[in-house]
Amino acid sequence: MTAEPATVSTADGPLAAAHQQLAEAARFLGLEEGIHALLAQPRREMTVRIPLRRDDGSMSLYTGHRVQHNVSRGPAKGGIRFSTSVDLDEVRALAMWMSWKCALIDIPYGGAKGGVAIDPRQHSTGELERVTRRYVSELADFIGPERDIPAPDIGTDEQTMAWIMDTISTGRGYSVPGSVTGKPLEIGGSRGRANATSLGVVHIALEALRSRGVSPEGSTAAIQGFGKVGAGAARLLADAGVRVIAVSDQFGAVYRSNGLDIHALEQHVARTGSVSGFNGGEALDNSLLLELDVQLLLPCAIEGVITAANAARIRADIIVEGANGPTSPDADAILADRGTLVVPDILANAGGVIVSYFEWVQANQAYWWSTLEVETKLTDRITAAWHTVQGEAKSTGRTLRSAATSIAVARVAQAHRLRGLYP
Ligand code: NAD
Repeated sequence: MTAEPATVSTADGPLAAAHQQLAEAARFLGLEEGIHALLAQPRREMTVRIPLRRDDGSMSLYTGHRVQHNVSRGPAKGGIRFSTSVDLDEVRALAMWMSWKCALIDIPYGGAKGGVAIDPRQHSTGELERVTRRYVSELADFIGPERDIPAPDIGTDEQTMAWIMDTISTGRGYSVPGSVTGKPLEIGGSRGRANATSLGVVHIALEALRSRGVSPEGSTAAIQGFGKVGAGAARLLADAGVRVIAVSDQFGAVYRSNGLDIHALEQHVARTGSVSGFNGGEALDNSLLLELDVQLLLPCAIEGVITAANAARIRADIIVEGANGPTSPDADAILADRGTLVVPDILANAGGVIVSYFEWVQANQAYWWSTLEVETKLTDRITAAWHTVQGEAKSTGRTLRSAATSIAVARVAQAHRLRGLYP
């Protein structure tokens, strides 16, 4: 078997970045060409059309995707994104990163991702429910606790997950709470899931500070994105004593040198839908947030925001990737030269999928754990992964991303070797 051209994709964008990272890991590991070719391509991908009956009686048509990148270590796992930026290549990249993340953290899942190219803000709750149910019913034969388990991502939330679970359950004729994670507690969600990604990001940020001999109380942070991941990370960092001096969302950014009052900012966002206009800080240009002189920079929004165009202007000591794929490979090289510590997405934001795994285990057994149990197990798993990745990076003189990716790729490749080829 020989590698297909996709393994040497040179175009920009998240898929090219994912291919480049895989190719680097393959070189380091001396991976068989056939296994490299296999891992560069999704196992299965589906594109569906979603006709929506609008509230005014008219009809709109949307496109959705679900990509299952790899299932050699267990069922596919990954979020569903509702955003106008969704396209098949983006979903392919995000699905590949999920395979590495689940392998790195050593949970028994493969990787998947899904998305609908839609702006959820332009739709009523009823319209979003109909889009979600139609999208999921198109994919219903490929989703379920043993096959593929979705979760929230950009533009989706607990309510979306409840509709997905109900759609799958209605089709099967009985409740299937293990078919999706990130559900409301009342219908089989896990305690600790809502905050899990942010909690993991903050554990990793504090470990990264410690590795550089810096205390949280003496540190400042800037956070791009004030959604499920970014807002939780801001709150938890502030609780840990870090001064969060700037945050942004897609509409604008706010800055306060003495630290923003995150609780008040969350109330402002709940009222107005954006961080813009918050009177507890000054407005800041969105792109400047990334270039502030801080100890911690947390990109928690979208991919491709730190590139060769701005990497040399980034002054943060440590970047903790709450978002998936925020840093391009070119930017990675520039940051490594400058001594910036970049904690990669597949490690930094793995808290969400770790607690999703706990939710799936609980839902499949109909047995519920306490918040303390969930958070203790999350902390143990993510801290262990941090030490594994840091140890590998140190002993081989590579970046944390190279170390993390090669550990993960080696595990997925080994699953393929052990299982062999069918037929
Ligand atoms: P979300 O929809 O809850 O929030 C996204 C935030 O990013 C919003 O505040 C939005 O306004 C902001 N944003 C979008 N474009 C921006 C831009 N150009 N500049 C500044 N801000 C911008 O989504 P989320 O669930 O918090 O996901 C954020 C990132 O974290 C994504 O990359 C996602 O894949 C990743 N992630 C999420 C989870 C999870 O559990 N939700 C887990 C792992 C990784």
